[in-house]
Amino acid sequence: MWKVGGLVATHARRRVASSTASWLRWSGGVAGGSAHDSSTSHEQHGTADGRGRQQGKQRSPAHRANSPVRHARTAASMPKYDEGWEEKERDPPAPGERVKALRRQLRDEAIAGRSGPLEDTFGRRHNYLRISLTEKCNLRCLYCMPEEGIDLTAKEELLSADEVVRVARLFVANGVDKIRLTGGEPTVRPDLEDIIRRLRALTGLRDIAITTNGLTLHRNLDALQAAGLTHVNISLDTLVPPKFELLTRRRGHDRVLKSIDRAVELGYDPVKVNVVLMRGVNDDELLDFVEMTREKPINVRFIEFMPFDGNKFEEKKVVSYCEAKERILEKYPSLTRMRDHRSEVAKNFKLDGHRGTVSFVTSMTDHFCGGCNRLRIMADGNLKVCLFDQGEVSLRDAMRGGASDDELMGVVGKAVGNKKAKHAGMSDLQNMENRSMIRIGG
Ligand code: SAM
Ligand code: SF4
Repeated sequence: MWKVGGLVATHARRRVASSTASWLRWSGGVAGGSAHDSSTSHEQHGTADGRGRQQGKQRSPAHRANSPVRHARTAASMPKYDEGWEEKERDPPAPGERVKALRRQLRDEAIAGRSGPLEDTFGRRHNYLRISLTEKCNLRCLYCMPEEGIDLTAKEELLSADEVVRVARLFVANGVDKIRLTGGEPTVRPDLEDIIRRLRALTGLRDIAITTNGLTLHRNLDALQAAGLTHVNISLDTLVPPKFELLTRRRGHDRVLKSIDRAVELGYDPVKVNVVLMRGVNDDELLDFVEMTREKPINVRFIEFMPFDGNKFEEKKVVSYCEAKERILEKYPSLTRMRDHRSEVAKNFKLDGHRGTVSFVTSMTDHFCGGCNRLRIMADGNLKVCLFDQGEVSLRDAMRGGASDDELMGVVGKAVGNKKAKHAGMSDLQNMENRSMIRIGG
């Protein structure tokens, strides 16, 4: 049974009315169905053939033709696997042929000088791969899932377990030692345990992690651990059950808490709890989340709210790392920064007398691109070298087009070679088109 200190829970309950009201002003009400709909159906506004109806931003054909964004393409209109990154060079206006040629030469030299396909031209070695296993989810978080739903990719266009394992094997052979399974909600995929077991067999793979909403994890975590799951991140944005229903448009707060407890019981240390901090929504629970770390080996990770398609991002809703830290320090002066590894994306802190720790993921106010070691493969098999880069290349099409392992890694190497030094700043990011978060995979 989960226990939040009685006082904390009472305060939280008292506060839910005002923060809920402000949330409703933000979200325009509980969209996408009743908050009391406890359905865990996997339908996501899609049609029976799985392709989904036309939703989201409606764009004119002219806009589509001019758009540099490649993610909206269907498999048929995707460039061949070795074409995707050439197209990128045609996007910017030509600065003059000689300058262009010189730039290309410099880049080609930098690419050729790399130690392997997973090193980029800035010397960053990518040893961490995030694989999204599905676009489906049993929750509808307001900051992740667009109100109107998403166009689901047809099942046959998603990577099969065999394809996931093949890609993973190649990445591991080239230096990846940590894989995170994400989604959508990875636990809705029936072959999750099988995939974990097959990943476990890859020599050189140290960590197999999952990021999950925890709704059903308590039921199958024992089996997933036995299959080889080494790390668990569970997302939970509120300690107040009614607010959970507003935020996720579904019930299940108690089940998420149960999953956190089960993960602790099974010895995951720390169990990471992801909290997307949003002003007027859950920032009044900041200290309650910190209090959770007193008795439990939990790492509470406050994530700055990020803009993605359809998530109603506004800059004023971002609670910056600095502000959050100051507010915590007022009550917990012992909050002390820990030494972080260069590739660590979070800023980690400990507190005197607490078993757990607190971290901040500061993508919006203090990017961590310099030490970035991660790559993403989405459920449809597209590789994304940066969360905020619109460029993608289809590994699925390469595999299904008969690419050998070397050819496949050639495609990957080219994409990694094109990775930029850093992503855009907050004001530019919110005006950029990107996939919705649920289709990227966190
Ligand atoms: N369904 C799983 C879950 O919720 O943990 C995995 C997928 S979810 C997209 C991965 C992570 O992304 C979650 O921790 C979620 O809170 C976070 N996330 C989603 N939308 C976000 C946003 N707009 N800003 C910051 N984090 C976000
Ligand atoms: Fe689903 Fe996770 Fe997105 Fe919430 S954050 S809608 S649980 S994928």
